[in-house]
Amino acid sequence: MSADYEVVVVDLDNTLCKLEVDWGEVKAGLERLAEAAGADVEDEGIWPLMEAAQQPGREPLLADMEQLVTEAELAGAGGPRNQALVNWLEQDGRPVSVLSLNSDAAVKRALSSHGLDERVSHVVARDHVRRVKPDPEGMLILARRHGVEPDRILFIGDKDGDRECAEQAGTGFLHVEEIGVDWRR
Ligand SMILES: [Mg+2]
Repeated sequence: MSADYEVVVVDLDNTLCKLEVDWGEVKAGLERLAEAAGADVEDEGIWPLMEAAQQPGREPLLADMEQLVTEAELAGAGGPRNQALVNWLEQDGRPVSVLSLNSDAAVKRALSSHGLDERVSHVVARDHVRRVKPDPEGMLILARRHGVEPDRILFIGDKDGDRECAEQAGTGFLHVEEIGVDWRR
């Protein structure tokens, strides 16, 4: 990654902020909803489960799933921030946007609870895309909003899916642990 990127995009959960959500409990709740709706349930993660519900005729199930996940995220949005990354972004000074699998409402609540909303130019959350990370759709939306080519973006995240998204979109990638992790309230 060359140092001459123009924009920094960060993941939210476990990168910039930590959502205090019991994801195992959320997944079990989604599986119960899917079973009650007669949908095929395989042992998949939260986002694949929700993507699987994106089918004609499954709108009520998808709405119930979305509500369950969003309520859990909103309840957990007051979790700690990664002060090491906050300091790094402050020193870096380039524009910052957030690309997250979480809901727009939860991302915005987490950012405002740490006074970070002013520092962030754009939020692309799962509500804004048809296909979530690792699909590059959200990253390409952010590139357009900032008026830069993807290769002018540095993406900072914590998961393999983040790295894969960076590769597919053609941005640089830095694992958050390379910057540091220091959770503070
Ligand atoms: Mg994350």
